[in-house]
Formats: sequence, C-alpha cells, structure tokens
Amino acid sequence: MAAPALPIVWKDAAGENNYEKERVDRIFNAIKPNRYPRAIIKATHPSHVQEAVQLANKLQCRVSVRSGGHSWAAWSVRDDAILIDLEGLHEIDLDEDKTIVKASPSTTGAMLNEVLVPKGLMFGGGHCPDVGIGGFLLQGGMGWNCKNWGWACEQIVALDVVTAAGEALHCSETENSDLLWCARGAGPGFPAIVTRFYLKTRQRPAVMYRSTFIYPISVYKTVMDWITKISPTSDPGNEIVAVGLTPKGMNEICIMAHIVTFQESESAAREALRPLDESRPVGALVELVSQPTSIADQYVDQAHANPENHRYCADNAYIKNDADVTGVLEKAFTSLPHRKSFALWFSMVPTSRRPMPDMACSMQSDHYFALYTVWEDAEDDVRCQGWVKNIMREVAPMSEGAYLGDSDFQVRRTKFWSDAAAAKLMSLRRKWDPKGTVSGYLDEGDASGTEGLDNQNWIKS
Ligand SMILES: Cc1cc2nc3c(=O)[nH]c(=O)nc-3n(C[C@H](O)[C@H](O)[C@H](O)COP(=O)(O)OP(=O)(O)OC[C@H]3O[C@@H](n4cnc5c(N)ncnc54)[C@H](O)[C@@H]3O)c2cc1C
Repeated sequence: MAAPALPIVWKDAAGENNYEKERVDRIFNAIKPNRYPRAIIKATHPSHVQEAVQLANKLQCRVSVRSGGHSWAAWSVRDDAILIDLEGLHEIDLDEDKTIVKASPSTTGAMLNEVLVPKGLMFGGGHCPDVGIGGFLLQGGMGWNCKNWGWACEQIVALDVVTAAGEALHCSETENSDLLWCARGAGPGFPAIVTRFYLKTRQRPAVMYRSTFIYPISVYKTVMDWITKISPTSDPGNEIVAVGLTPKGMNEICIMAHIVTFQESESAAREALRPLDESRPVGALVELVSQPTSIADQYVDQAHANPENHRYCADNAYIKNDADVTGVLEKAFTSLPHRKSFALWFSMVPTSRRPMPDMACSMQSDHYFALYTVWEDAEDDVRCQGWVKNIMREVAPMSEGAYLGDSDFQVRRTKFWSDAAAAKLMSLRRKWDPKGTVSGYLDEGDASGTEGLDNQNWIKS
C-alpha cells in the first residue's frame, strides 16, 4: 500500500492552520519555548521520516524530533527546523520466543509495560508513565531499578534509523555499530532519527513491595546519613531514594525514604526490605512498612508527583563518591521554593561500581541528585529558576558531572560523558551528520551545531 501524503503544517501558510497547536503538542513543561520551527510533520508512516529529512536537505534547513515530548527544555522545538513529530507511529511488537520487543520511539514506558506485564515480562522504562522511550533511551535511561539492573539503554539490541542524508538503515552490534554505540547515551545529539527500537525485555518479578517513611525535615541529617550508608549493601532487588518534599496534607517540608523492591515471592520481598525496615530512624510521621505495590500503583504516585500543566525547572548532578553527601544536599532538601517542588537522591550502587559497558553513556557516581522544581504561576518563574541555579552553583563543585535527561545546556553545562566517550561521540556525530542536519544539543543561542558540547563545566551567570 502506498504511504499517505506527507502531513505537513507550514509556519507561514496563509489562513487557519494548526501550527501553534502542533508546535507545542505534548510538550510536558507548561513553560513553552519561544522557538518557531519552519514546519511540523506529523509522521504516520516510516517513509514520512525519510521524506522529511530529504525535504530539509533540499531546503537546507535542520530537522528536530519529538517522541514523547518530555524533554524539560523542549529540545524538539527549534527555530527554523522541520519538526518531525513521531506520535503517529505506533508499534509494539513482541517476539515472545526471543523476548525482544520492537517499539516505536513515541511509545511510553506505561504503554510498553501494558503489553509486556501480562506476558510475564517488563521493561525498566522511565519512572513516570508517559515518558517517551525515544528521548529516554538515547540519554541512557534511568529506569526502574537502574541501581541494580543498569542503564535502560543497555537493553537496546538494535535500531532502525533514518540518517541525516535521508537513508534508512538498520543498526546493531554487527551493522552500523557506531550508531548503536551513539544511541546508548548521545541524548539529543544522536546524529540520525530513530524510527524503531529493538529492546531486550526482562522477566517480570513476581511481586513488588515497598516501604515508605516520611520524617520531619528537622531529622534530615539522621535520615540521609542512614539511607546513604545502608543503600550500597542493600538487596539487589531494592530501588532506594530519598526525597525532600512537602507531602500531600502537610504544610512543611519533609524527608521521605522510599524503597521499592522487585522480588520472586512475598517472603523474599519482606526479607529484602527487613534490614531497612528494622534500622530506620525513629520519629517518622508516616510509616508504610513492607506493603505490596505494583508498577501500575507506582506510576500513579509518579504521575501525581509530576503533574501535567505545571511549570518545571530540572537540574542534576552525580555527587562524588567521597563527598559528604548529607552536607552537600542539605540546602536543596530543606529550602524547596514551592510546595510542589522536590529534591531527589537516588542510590546508584552497584551499577555505578561496575566497569561501564562500551557505550556513549559513560558518566555516573554512587549518588544521583536531581531537582524537580514544580510551580504553577509564571510570576514565580524567576524565583524558582533562580533557586535552582543557586543550589546547583553550590552543589556542582562536589559533582563528577550530570545526566543529560534532567539537564538544560542553555543554563548549565558540565561533563555528561567521560572525556574519551565525549571525543568519540562528537567525532561520530560529524561523521554521520557532517552538515548538522539533525538539530543537536540546544545550548545558549542554539549554536553548538556540528561541534556538539565541549564536556566542560559552565554556568550561565
Ligand atoms: C515527568 C518526567 C519524568 C521523567 N522521569 C525520568 C526517569 O524516570 N528516568 C529518566 O532517565 N528520565 C526521566 N525523565 C527525563 C526524560 O527521560 C527526558 O526528558 C527524555 O528526553 C524524554 O523523552 P521523550 O521522548 O518523551 O522526549 P522528547 O522531548 O520527545 O525528546 C527529547 C529529545 O530527544 C531526541 N529524540 C527523541 N526521540 C528521538 C528519535 N526518535 N530520534 C532521534 N532523536 C530523538 C530529540 O533531540 C528530542 O528533542 C523524565 C521527564 C519528565 C518530564
């Protein structure tokens, strides 16, 4: 069957059109960018991606890509580019014998698990249900139980792409393998457009349990010292976070320790949580000790913590392994600028202690720290964004670098890769996209082009 005609909406078309709606369609952050693509193509057929790139090359402009629309800084919206929106490409095709799933990049973690979980499988996608696997996997992907299961991008066995020259290619360990290397951690600098991922799935653990303890912020030091000390030797099914937040129904900032465990039986789950349950500091305001949960329940909690139609500013750092983590993060956890904002510490050991697989994703430490600053009114923009900048100015010197997925290179740059991986990545980008057809890293003024990022520290004053 012939492909349908290219569905394109031009910025300068006369009369009524959907340009503004499509420009920011599905952009999660309510702060919409002042950047205006030349046209938007809502691809409904893989050939549309190829046609879009060929058109951009003919017009000598760039393309940009939107999969799930969850980039905090709306990287898909670029001045004068042809924006390729992949929402209309739907594919989730599971090979049950090989437990490999083929999925289109706009597939969300929740969509994927809806298909996999009933088959006794799962995919450790983003913690929020509606994050697209496109942007998530390309950045490395801090998915469920990343602490123990490793980076989500390690599950990519192959991908189909359209190159900057408009050619459709399959990439695997044996074909065009340097594009597979890039797809595991290049983030928005991936020098092609992914139209399909081939992903290893994992056996779905039979049960999920959780323990959650909420404390007044006055005992921040006790709780943080405890959780950072106990996490490295905790059971390999345990995902462990500490969160500074204002819980629903309370009026003060608190610190929450939250452990989710993935296990084969109820008794194994209780056993995995027991050392944490038994050693927890006294004085909690809320205690949920070893309770059954599910991926669906956890998605609900995550979606509640990250509400739609809100303004967001995220930033993050991998805190050095030998740092006084409790001291370094104290200000962030105790001075949140809005009751919907939260600060996160995410234990990464033992993943952070293995030799990294050979892939672009190459930066990590035992301690992942992120700010998810959430607010409602535009009049709070300067205050909330200024708070993030001030916190990061103090935290950054104690960090190794940062994760692409929670970063905005217009505001702050740091190391996102090892020096060797960064040099290889920037050179592969120039090999595969010598003219800079695929919009890469959105830095200040969108100027990085084929040079990419310099993998150095920089904070906008
Ligand atoms: C509420 C929320 C929760 C999150 N939770 C997590 C989490 O648990 N773990 C985590 O690691 N991250 C998380 N993130 C960060 C998230 O992974 C990134 O924002 C990611 O970019 C989202 O992917 P997307 O496809 O939805 O975004 P998009 O905005 O569609 O894509 C971002 C960019 O990635 C590139 N890209 C996307 N698709 C393609 C493609 N097919 N081909 C080539 N380039 C492409 C493009 O440069 C694009 O502009 C979260 C973000 C939000 C908003």
